[in-house]
Amino acid sequence: MPPASAAPPAIIAVRDLVLEVDVGGALAQFVRDVDLAELCITSAGTVRPGAIPSGAFTLPDVPDIGVRVSPAPGERCERCWRVLPEVGQAPDHADLCCRCAEIVGSSNAPVRAASPG
Ligand SMILES: [Zn+2]
Repeated sequence: MPPASAAPPAIIAVRDLVLEVDVGGALAQFVRDVDLAELCITSAGTVRPGAIPSGAFTLPDVPDIGVRVSPAPGERCERCWRVLPEVGQAPDHADLCCRCAEIVGSSNAPVRAASPG
């Protein structure tokens, strides 16, 4: 564990975030089924077709996309590094999210830190 004053590695910092993307116009139909959390390596992500809310980050050249970022609620999963409210709820896997607990439990592999994925 790095000292508290050290900046976290970029991948951990991004995993601490929830990303919400509002998409308007013709782009909305193309991004409806995008798994934003997997694509952007965040803990959670939502794509919402519709109007861009005030306060969302936008670029002048891309007015149909608005982005909002917030801290992810919960604890960090020691396997995938996502920060999720469900971490610690799986029996026998206090440091894992439900998805990782299921994977580790089905393989009987020892629990250890790994790259996100
Ligand atoms: Zn996990």
